[in-house]
Amino acid sequence: MNIHEYQGKSILKSFGVAIQEGIVADTPEQAVAAAKELQAQTGTQWWVVKAQIHAGGRGKGGGVKLAKSLDEVNEKASNIIGMQLVTPQTGPQGKKVNKVLIAQDVYYPGPSSTSEFYMSVLLNRQTGRNIVMYSTEGGMDIEEVAEKTPHLIFKEEIDPKTGLLPFQARKIAFNLGLSGNAFKEMTKFVTALCKAYESTDSSMFEINPVLKTSDDKIIAVDAKVNLDENALYRHPDYAAMRDITEEDPTEVEAGEHNLNYVKLDGNVGCMVNGAGLAMATMDIIKLAGGDPANFLDVGGTANAARVEQAFRIILKDPNVKAILVNIFGGIVRCDRVAQGVVDAYKSIGEIPVPIIVRLQGTNAEEAKKIIDESGLKVYSAIQLKEAADLVADVLKK
Ligand code: GDP
Ligand code: MN
Repeated sequence: MNIHEYQGKSILKSFGVAIQEGIVADTPEQAVAAAKELQAQTGTQWWVVKAQIHAGGRGKGGGVKLAKSLDEVNEKASNIIGMQLVTPQTGPQGKKVNKVLIAQDVYYPGPSSTSEFYMSVLLNRQTGRNIVMYSTEGGMDIEEVAEKTPHLIFKEEIDPKTGLLPFQARKIAFNLGLSGNAFKEMTKFVTALCKAYESTDSSMFEINPVLKTSDDKIIAVDAKVNLDENALYRHPDYAAMRDITEEDPTEVEAGEHNLNYVKLDGNVGCMVNGAGLAMATMDIIKLAGGDPANFLDVGGTANAARVEQAFRIILKDPNVKAILVNIFGGIVRCDRVAQGVVDAYKSIGEIPVPIIVRLQGTNAEEAKKIIDESGLKVYSAIQLKEAADLVADVLKK
């Protein structure tokens, strides 16, 4: 589960990770009040107004602005709240900004220069261990650094028995070219960051940039925190941080009906039981010359109510030109699923796109008969090849 920068930072802070301090605001008035309060707390002279959306690259899209007075805080917050922010990560339609984070300015002048680093903690699936990934090339596009100058990205593997060890923290600070107080601060920072990652059951932390301030503090300026959904039951306070306005509304609705649905860009909707079969079905759609419009696993109980709900969700996507239902009847009998399809069809009314139903397993023949005799515009198949050919046919029409 993704959360906003301000929420991620509050979690980091609770584990002793130093952050760029800030206060979240819903309106320009709240933004000004937040700026005043922040000035009282931290002595900051300037502020940054940061759009809170679940996507990175906000700076590039105009969603992060420096304000040098309270009037400017008001002006920038007014511009950003309510805007449709387009960044390299949002797609062309962008995302609506509902909140801004008013943060202290941390790029102030001082005895030494500032430096921006990249740091993330994540699971290395090859070794099954968490790693700290870090680079001197922070603040910018890390994908580009990885592509053009991969030798500038370092990795440090964490032994689950011990956690990040002190010598590893020192190695990281050394590789980042730090010395003196900044070196010490960095060892504290990365140690606290790893502790936070483990304690929160996160699947990714990405801090870009980690800033060395001009007075040698090390702080998180940005925070992309991804919490493992499977562990949220252990963290009710984090579960409450979910912001469903950031999620695809159809995916949210599917989740409420316990359907595993992921929207894709293609033209053939699919309804399948079991994730493996769903993936094979998507391959078959591709082979037939179509493109899957979604991944949808209806799970083990493909009864009429679920089938109907699944149809309704697939049909919300205007790109869908055909629907392929591919159900293997093992525990659930094919004839019951077929009846479910017919009932759902009747309950929804006219379904505007052709439906191809492939039922295999217990009572497959009876199921085909139910579909064929229903008088509805539904094509039936038993073999997967037949179903694929039918998909190809209806797409040609
Ligand atoms: P992102 O663009 O979504 O990754 O958002 P970030 O939180 O990383 O902010 C983008 C950029 O804004 C940073 O790389 C900084 O260059 C700049 N920025 C962030 N905080 C401050 C600040 O306190 N003062 C100044 N002058 N710039 C800042
Ligand atoms: Mn960033």
